[in-house]
Formats: sequence, C-alpha cells, structure tokens
Amino acid sequence: FGTVSDLIRAHARERPGRPALADAHGRLDYAALDARMDRIAAALQRDGLGVGDAIALCANASVDYACVFLGALRAGVAVAPLAPGSAPDSLARMVRDADARLVFVDAVGDAAMGGAGEPAAARIALQGEVAGARPLADWIAPEGAMPQPAEVQPATPFNIIYSSGTTGEPKGIVQGHGMRWAHIQRGAVYGYGPESVTLLSTPLYSNTTLVVFFPTLAFGGCVWLMPKFDAGQYLQLAEREGVTHTMLVPVQYQRLMAHPDFDRHDLSRFQAKFCTSAPFRAELKADVLARWPGGLIEFYGMTEGGGTCILEAHAHPDKLHTVGCAAPGSDIRLIDDEGREVPAGEAGEVVGHSAGMMVGYHKQPAKTREAEWFAPDGKRFIRTGDVGRFDADGFLTLFDRKKDMVISGGFNLYPSDLEAVLRRHPAVADCSVIGIPSEQWGETPVAYVVHTPGDTTAPETIREWANEQLGKTQRLAGLRFIDELPRSAIGKVLKRELRERWAAERG
Ligand code: ATP
Ligand code: MG
Repeated sequence: FGTVSDLIRAHARERPGRPALADAHGRLDYAALDARMDRIAAALQRDGLGVGDAIALCANASVDYACVFLGALRAGVAVAPLAPGSAPDSLARMVRDADARLVFVDAVGDAAMGGAGEPAAARIALQGEVAGARPLADWIAPEGAMPQPAEVQPATPFNIIYSSGTTGEPKGIVQGHGMRWAHIQRGAVYGYGPESVTLLSTPLYSNTTLVVFFPTLAFGGCVWLMPKFDAGQYLQLAEREGVTHTMLVPVQYQRLMAHPDFDRHDLSRFQAKFCTSAPFRAELKADVLARWPGGLIEFYGMTEGGGTCILEAHAHPDKLHTVGCAAPGSDIRLIDDEGREVPAGEAGEVVGHSAGMMVGYHKQPAKTREAEWFAPDGKRFIRTGDVGRFDADGFLTLFDRKKDMVISGGFNLYPSDLEAVLRRHPAVADCSVIGIPSEQWGETPVAYVVHTPGDTTAPETIREWANEQLGKTQRLAGLRFIDELPRSAIGKVLKRELRERWAAERG
C-alpha cells in the first residue's frame, strides 16, 4: 500500500524538471508541485486540519485546483470536490454533509454557491478576485514550509465524491486511500510513465476524470487540464502537446469524430484512450478504432466501486456491443429481484466486488446497506442498479438502469433496444426513450428525438416507421422533437428531466 503523495515526492527527487501539471495559464514541474503540496499541507495543519477532517473544492479544473487536492491528501485531509453546476442549496448541503472546514472556490464556484454567507466554512480563492474570500497566495504556508507526515490507512477517506445525481439526490461516496491505490496499481498496464501526457477535459469532481488523473501522476506523467471541452481546441492541443492518454465520455468522442478537421491532425502519439460514464455505441467505437491511433479502453463501473468491466476495444473488435469482461480482481455477478444469482445466460442486476470498493455512503448507513449484496459465502458486493447479461465468453452487455426500464403490461422493456431501432432512421440524429404512466399498461414508452439538421420528416412518420420494426409490446405511444437531449456535465442523458418535461408539455 502506498500513496500518490509519496510517489510525487519520489518523482520530484528523480526528475524535478519534468512537467506534472499544465493548463492554459502555465505548467508546473514535479519539484514545484511537490513544494506547493508541502506548503498547502502545512497550511492545513496550521489551521488544525488533519486525518479525519475534510475540505471542499468548488471550481473549474486548473493547476491550482489540482495542487490543493494533492496538498490536502499529503496532510491526510479528505477532499470533497463539488460540481459548480449544482444548485446553491444542493452545494450548501454537500459542504455541511462533508463537514468541510474550508471551501476553495474560483469565481464560477463561488457564484454557484451563492457567494458569501453560506456555508459556515471559510472560503479561499484559488485564483482571481472572489469577494470575501481569502486569496490562496495569502493563505498558503511560506516557501520552504514542511508539513508533519500524515498517517493514512487504506480506509482513511481520500475523497468524498457526490454521485452524479442522475437518478436522484446526490449521495456522498467515501473512497478510501486503499481504493485509489487499487486504481493506481491497475494503471501499470496502460503504459503511463514520465513521457506520458494525459489530456483531461472532464471535470475533476468526477471519478471519471480521477481514475486517470491519479495514475498519470503516480507514474510521473503530465496532466493537461482543459476545463471547457471544445472539439477543435482539443484536437489542436492533442497534436501540439503530443498527448498519449486521455479520458473522454461518449458524447465527446462523438463530437471529435464529427469534427471536420479530425483527420488532418497528427494523433500518432496516442497510446491509450479511455471512456466511461454512459453507453458508448458500437458504431462509434468502430469509428474511433478506424481513425484514431492507439488503444481504446472502455470502463464500466461506478463511483461506489465494487468491480469494473473493461473492454479493450482494439483487441476485441467483435465485442464492441459489450462493456467487456470483469477486470482483474473484480468479481461481477448478476442477481434477480429476490437477490438470487440468475442462471448463466440470463439478464439480471449487475453486482460487483473488487479491492476498490467505497467505504460507504457518507453518514447514510441505511443507504449503504441497501447498496450492498452479500454472496452466500459472505463476500461483499455493491449493487449497480444496472441490468446486464453475460455472453458465453464472459463479456457483459448492458441494457439499462433498472430505474429506466419501462414495465409495460407486465413486460420489461429496455429503452436502449428501442433507441437502437430509432437511430437507424436517417431523420434521427439522437434520441432517448423514457417510460410515462399509462392507465392501460402501467407504463408505456415514448421517445424524444433530436432531428437531423435539414430533414423534414414528421414525428408521426418516424414513430410509425419505428413501430413497424418494434415488437408488439415495445411500440412507442408518442414521439416528440427536442433541440438537444439534457445531459449532465459528464455527458449522461438526464432521463429524469425528460420524464418531467414530457409531463409538463402534456400540460
Ligand atoms: P447517481 O448514482 O447519483 O444516480 P450515477 O450512477 O450516474 O449517479 P456514476 O457513479 O458517475 O453516477 O455512474 C455510474 C453509472 O454510469 C453506472 O451505474 C452505469 O449506469 C453508467 N455507466 C458507467 N460506465 C458505463 C459504460 N461503460 N457504459 C454504459 N453505462 C455506464
Ligand atoms: Mg449510481
């Protein structure tokens, strides 16, 4: 068991001048990063924080943001990275829930939190002027300051990540140092090293980003932070910096592959491209494999941990419709509504066990128990709420979240099956199927469709066409156009919002 903090210290000794962090405003080498981490850890200790305490970060990704995150870890202080896109009362609730004693903000994060007053924690400005907040340069300990070494154990909280809230109120997920260490060790097979340049344009408050961020630094590479994704800028930066690794969510892959300049850029240094968070269509994976050098690796898992499936797409071109096989050390099983394992070949709720499992939901023991499943031999698993099926080779096909499944007239309909049919119609650029209440069937499926630009097909025509391809029980009861599907900051379609919208539009 080790820590990313100690590994950064070792890189600072062995290769002090190698770049560690970069953003549009500048870069920091390992020696400078290590020194800043010491000064931040020392300032936290001076303020009386240590193992068992927490800070919050509410800002866009930047070099300073990353330094504070890493400096807190060196002091053994847990970090609660918050999404600046959340509502002010939701952010205030998270700060209180995490018992964060300091909140580090930039102008965006501070505005999101509603400025001064809320919460009770002291605010420190990462960069720029933030009214009422103490500037980081003023708060940080003086140059040369050295913190006391912090004693952390595998179960010591590393970070508290608030779940995406895709399906409901965000839950605080406590990940321990041991869980992060498990991610770092797995990173060894992806070729990270001192020559690596990892370009990240997903937010630092998401586990999606952190599963790549920490391993890059643990192996001495450089992380390039791009706070706002733009396909054209991403491609320019990737070429100019000789990017070797990246994490992107499916909607970002889609925008990059559709960019008119994509094939003009030299992306030959790429070794590994990662993807996670949301369904990644097989055709899109095939397009990435055909036109973008380097490996393509999809992860399926969740912030709570408990097992990951990995698809090395470049090695399994015939399995692109799956999310791959259980990662080494992961045990993935499928259970029915009564909590029994389903027979081989049948669909069930995915549960997973691994070395990297959350400690639990913060202050919510009842929710933690609901999320756990124990095998007959007592082995602990985490329930995913996703439904899937293994093929004969052990590759998992995911259907949908249980909560998004439509139960119509006693039949379980998977929206993903209906969406796949709709996408085959040329008038459909994108779509999402949801269940709405129905007196006759309990629930019935309806679709929101993003219309292909310039196309004039009427919604009824698309619906009738789709219903001819669909089974009798799957038929769509309605179809409406929408300009863009509502998505979270990491690209997940917010079906909850679509259900509310459908009800409101009906009036
Ligand atoms: P909340 O739990 O608050 O509703 P969330 O489940 O979206 O939010 P995360 O932990 O970020 O929060 O996401 C995990 C979920 O994302 C998985 O349960 C699964 O539904 C989906 N997911 C993750 N990876 C993939 C993938 N490769 N393909 C399809 N879906 C995925
Ligand atoms: Mg979840």
